[in-house]
Amino acid sequence: MYGWGGRVIYVDLTREKVVVQPLSETEAKMYLGGRGLNSYRLFKMVKPGIDPLSPENVLCLANGALAGTALSMTSRTEISSLSPLSGILGDGNAGGEFSAILKHAGYDQIVITGRASKPKYIWIEDDTVEIRDASDLWGLKVSEMVDTLRDIHGDDIAVAGIGPAGEHLVRFATTMIDKYHSGARGTGAVWGSKNLKAIAVRGTKGVEIADPETFFKLAKEDEEWFKKNEFIKKIYSVIGTHYGLLAWYPGWKYFEKYLGPEELPEGIRPVDLAKYEVGRTQCFSCPVSCKDVYKLPRWNEYGVSSEFESIYALGANNAITDTEAILKMEQMADDYGMDVITLGDTLAMAKFLYEKGIITDTDTGGIPLKWGDAETQIKLIEMIAYREGFGNKLAEGYRNFAKIIGPEALKYSYDVKGLSRGWYHVDFLNGIFTLAHATSTRGADHLRGRSWAYWENDRNMDPELPLKLLEGGLPDYRKDPVGALIVSERACTLTDSIGRCKGSINSWPQAIPLVWKYPLFKGLAKLLTAATGYEFTEEKLVEIADRIYLIEMAFNVRQGIKKKHYAVPFPPEIINTPKVQAEIKRHWEMVDEYLKRRGCDVETAVPKRETLKKLGIEWVADEIENKEFPEWDGPPLWPPDKYPRGR
Ligand code: SF4
Repeated sequence: MYGWGGRVIYVDLTREKVVVQPLSETEAKMYLGGRGLNSYRLFKMVKPGIDPLSPENVLCLANGALAGTALSMTSRTEISSLSPLSGILGDGNAGGEFSAILKHAGYDQIVITGRASKPKYIWIEDDTVEIRDASDLWGLKVSEMVDTLRDIHGDDIAVAGIGPAGEHLVRFATTMIDKYHSGARGTGAVWGSKNLKAIAVRGTKGVEIADPETFFKLAKEDEEWFKKNEFIKKIYSVIGTHYGLLAWYPGWKYFEKYLGPEELPEGIRPVDLAKYEVGRTQCFSCPVSCKDVYKLPRWNEYGVSSEFESIYALGANNAITDTEAILKMEQMADDYGMDVITLGDTLAMAKFLYEKGIITDTDTGGIPLKWGDAETQIKLIEMIAYREGFGNKLAEGYRNFAKIIGPEALKYSYDVKGLSRGWYHVDFLNGIFTLAHATSTRGADHLRGRSWAYWENDRNMDPELPLKLLEGGLPDYRKDPVGALIVSERACTLTDSIGRCKGSINSWPQAIPLVWKYPLFKGLAKLLTAATGYEFTEEKLVEIADRIYLIEMAFNVRQGIKKKHYAVPFPPEIINTPKVQAEIKRHWEMVDEYLKRRGCDVETAVPKRETLKKLGIEWVADEIENKEFPEWDGPPLWPPDKYPRGR
């Protein structure tokens, strides 16, 4: 097959069996790859209502349809599973080199089932796929694990795997790619539950392109745009996502307020972070290089890629302004393999509950939880990774942690479908922010469509771009926020399915190649046609994006998601005020409009048969229509002593 690797690896860890099958052409054309292929596979293979930490859960890793090609920024690996953090669809999308090298070995997807009796890792070298003993790797931090595997197999391999947090089933453990690239939603704990430490791959085959001349010309044109863009050169390639601190209003002290650029305290400004930077780095074939390499003189250590999210969640939201300590926490999160957002927000919630007296020293084991206390937070991060003491409760992650504490705590869980992202007024950006959190198919999220609906970042790169996007078919969010969000969700779905980075800047040109020349998806259609030899059109791509999104919605319906779970959170102190009640009313009107336009039943939020039929997946309707699924209330939680704990 041109464009794709053409094969899928199925690994049954219980039986220690590997089967390699050809990628079906139909599946490739219907779901492209990456997120699309994973979401489809999970819908087919995961039975509703299972425990995400049981051997029945399925772990999928997939590269995108254009991974490993000459198109830049297409090195994202999509890691998907039933999430142990949320209990619904969980996928993370990580950079690095893994997906490109997996493609070069001739594969598009790895599907892992069962549970090994002892720690294992998977070794892939072109046509060889083996399950190997990982006793010597178990217990290692991510950087140590990657170094050990490179010592065994050579420096030209790529590695996906977990750190101690995944082994200890921390519910927000990440899948780590090549040391520093993290895929969230708790997939790391799924590896741990399967006794799987890592996948190491060497690929030497390259990717066959159907029409190389056209493809390389288009790919070069795309890359040149980034290389010439002044804003990229002067801002994103210099400070990466630290830019967000000046533009994206980080939450402060458990979302007590959101900091404007002039309110940033010393210690969490880009200029403070720059003092620790010693270099920059990037994923496979990226002209942007959004990632910093930083040095921690206090610990005599190095770290990579301190992002907006880690500074806000571990720093600002915990009122911590000790720059070097925040960077140390981010480096610890990478090395233990934990998601910085859930980690930081769970710690901030714990401090907030402690301040309110909802949790006490009895809960914390005598550890005082104080705002701004970096030293204790560093200790707690380690305790979470190994589920020690109070860390065992925090390791359950945000809403689950609040649920364990009790109903008073749960009132302060600002989550949608289990995932944290703070709380926002509905009138902010004409309702898009809150609506996007509500409609995201993996719980509250900023990378499922939100930022693409209002083009703020695009205006910075090219003042003409918003106009081109509108002419290309993106509805104006100021007039039609629901329409703008749906089109933006399509864009993100396609990006995740071709394996392109949505990037440091959350922008259209980064997500959708050549959008500045052929808006919206026409340039992408040309690239896919040239790469694969199949004819893709903009209309076909819209259909593919909707098919993937509706399958994801259907997956969550089977996990008990009802319309009520499209609610957005507010602090209990203000939720009954007339202003907020009016905002909530508007939110539900937008949800109704969204469900109608998505072809779902407006009362139940279940995708309609006729919609699924139009998208060529009527069989999905048989799985969800007129069926009763127990109402979602997060994943099943274990008794505290059942988790692997300590070192
Ligand atoms: S923009 Fe950043 S995250 Fe995206 S591919 Fe480039 S280096 Fe990786």
